[in-house]
Amino acid sequence: MPDIVDFAGRTILAIFAHPDDESLACGGTLARLADAGARVVVMCASRGERGSFSSGSVVSGNDLPTARAQELEEAAHVLGVAELIVLHHPDGDLRWANVPQFHAEIVAAIERTRPDGVITFAEDGLYWHLDHIGVHERTFTAVKSFGPWAPPLYYVTMKQGLMQEIVAAARANGAHHLKGKPFNVEPDAFGDYAKPPDFLVDVHEWVPRKLAALRCHRTQIGPDNAFHHITDEQARRLLGVEQFRRSPLDAGWESVIEQLGERVAG
Ligand SMILES: [Zn+2]
Repeated sequence: MPDIVDFAGRTILAIFAHPDDESLACGGTLARLADAGARVVVMCASRGERGSFSSGSVVSGNDLPTARAQELEEAAHVLGVAELIVLHHPDGDLRWANVPQFHAEIVAAIERTRPDGVITFAEDGLYWHLDHIGVHERTFTAVKSFGPWAPPLYYVTMKQGLMQEIVAAARANGAHHLKGKPFNVEPDAFGDYAKPPDFLVDVHEWVPRKLAALRCHRTQIGPDNAFHHITDEQARRLLGVEQFRRSPLDAGWESVIEQLGERVAG
């Protein structure tokens, strides 16, 4: 069914740190935007060479960045991403390494793609991951450098308690062997002390695509990851809403991604 909002001719640039962030943070919204006609461009700062190997993974150490870049390509295809930009900044050091270069790359991507909106992590980096916080900082300063011509900037956050619910659902399905820490992170850290969202995007219809995209990241989401064990119905219930906050940088501009959303009272 076509979306009620038409994004034909519009471009959305989403900037994240590692392969899998795009799907985990807002895969439903990216797929919905693509289906509504937007040209969705994803920039990923690293190839995630310091990521984990899921149990059963056949990839060896040297091949991990190549495998993760390939997984990202598959996920991007599932989500309907029109263009994928994969940078080679050092995973684990994104907050401090190559700062002027990374800044210049984001500025160049904005100049070239002329996005109607930019999406990135909020100050909390989804779960206080320093790489994610670094990408938030670089994106904020790059967008800010456009002054009055800065495109609207959106921060994605996760609902606090959601990751615990996902782990509990997977365990209820019999996955007792599960690592208690999806992505090697305490579930409590996801959304912890994040600033509250301005608006929520209903992605219930796009949850199957979000889950399929997440599962393209096989080195990260294997049998030891909760996302491997939730049913489609649980996924719909748990992942059907994504949340955003608009940066105060560009308050004078029109609404863009808000058009998909429902404002949070407050
Ligand atoms: Zn990440």
